[in-house]
Amino acid sequence: MKKFKKSHALFKKASQVIPLASQTFSKSYLSYIRGGAPLFVTHGKGAYVWDIDANKYIDLINALGPVILGYQYPAVDFAVQKQLQKGISLSLPAPLEYELAGLLVKHIPCAEMVRFGKNGSDATTGAIRLARAVTGREHVAVCGYHGWHDWYIGSTTMNLGVPKSTQAMTHKFVYNNIVSLEKIFKKYRGKVAAVIMEPMSHEEPKNHFLQKVKQLTHKHGALLIFDEIVTGFRFGLGGAQSYFGVTPDLAAFGKAMANGMPISALVGKRRYMKKVKDIFYSFTFGGEALSLAAAVAVIKVFERKKVVEHIWALGEFLRRGLRHLISEYGLNEIIQIKGKPCNLAAAFVATANYTDLEIKSFLQQEFLQNGVLWYGGHTISYAHSLADMRIVLQVYEKAFHRLRKVMDGKTLRQNLRGKPITNIFKVR
Ligand code: PMP
Repeated sequence: MKKFKKSHALFKKASQVIPLASQTFSKSYLSYIRGGAPLFVTHGKGAYVWDIDANKYIDLINALGPVILGYQYPAVDFAVQKQLQKGISLSLPAPLEYELAGLLVKHIPCAEMVRFGKNGSDATTGAIRLARAVTGREHVAVCGYHGWHDWYIGSTTMNLGVPKSTQAMTHKFVYNNIVSLEKIFKKYRGKVAAVIMEPMSHEEPKNHFLQKVKQLTHKHGALLIFDEIVTGFRFGLGGAQSYFGVTPDLAAFGKAMANGMPISALVGKRRYMKKVKDIFYSFTFGGEALSLAAAVAVIKVFERKKVVEHIWALGEFLRRGLRHLISEYGLNEIIQIKGKPCNLAAAFVATANYTDLEIKSFLQQEFLQNGVLWYGGHTISYAHSLADMRIVLQVYEKAFHRLRKVMDGKTLRQNLRGKPITNIFKVR
């Protein structure tokens, strides 16, 4: 049985000096079954990570999405090392800024101009400020998760510290429900600056939903922003906008852009983007050169190799295998596999006896014991192989077998090794 002794010891010490003992909610103990999970990893290579107790895992999280080629991908690491010899952050823009902007313009349909950021939230927040500046309006409609800044997070249950006046400007609509967006435009007629949405999270767009959103948004004089922080590069270099053939006015890219180096991009139509120089979108590390070099290297790898095809093919293999196993173990009512193959998620439904998080936690503890780092998503990278996916399916089968047993015997709770995973927040 895998032990997590060092993880727990370090967690105790780290909690004294780092609130949450993590910089990111989704990487913190809240996302893992308490007591039955590692809390720190020391390194990653290819498709694997090692925890502080030296346990090895197939990583289905990949640093929450950024690691799209695999850990320590040679061409990217080489580009970073080469840039390291020239300087990390310089006093004037490095020519690399122009090179990377050109590559993004080449591949992303809406991208005619580009500005960089560090986190995805920089790019989404820049897009919102720009839309407000362009339209002279203040309200925004949101659909999905868009980052940690006041304008968005105030619309969720995690709104502590966000002024009420800011919360009042953000309105949530429901994916695949055009009426929910119409209502916002009606209620705040002439006041909505932008509609920001993930073009697809785990639900497929139905009845030309994206086209309808675009039409409605433009009819009301607002800007359409696609949040492609997750879909960017994973759906393909041009993001989900290229995949679905719907071009927004602005878009935010991040996560997978540089295989783990911190960089994001606000991109969009020239007529709007040229106004970025008039809003305040500016920060010290905006042009940090290691990340620029890494992003250029990532795009060149995508251009040369069938990265996207590989990820989608493995995802499809996994999806088919999972759906088969779910039926075989009679779990159709409890577990649903959602999303495109490049971004598959397992969604859980509560039963009469157990909450969705208890079921998920039970599976997670089984996964961890069998060497797979997992919390519901399947963030496949170019480094994963078909053999890895076969192992993942074997682990699923073993876990489903155990799940069926404890659910039928009503002993799931007794078999949990600790407190279940916590829902970090609810989009209100
Ligand atoms: N938008 C989406 C769709 C995201 O998934 C995230 C991050 N999970 C963000 C925006 C914010 O990105 P970051 O955490 O890098 O600021």
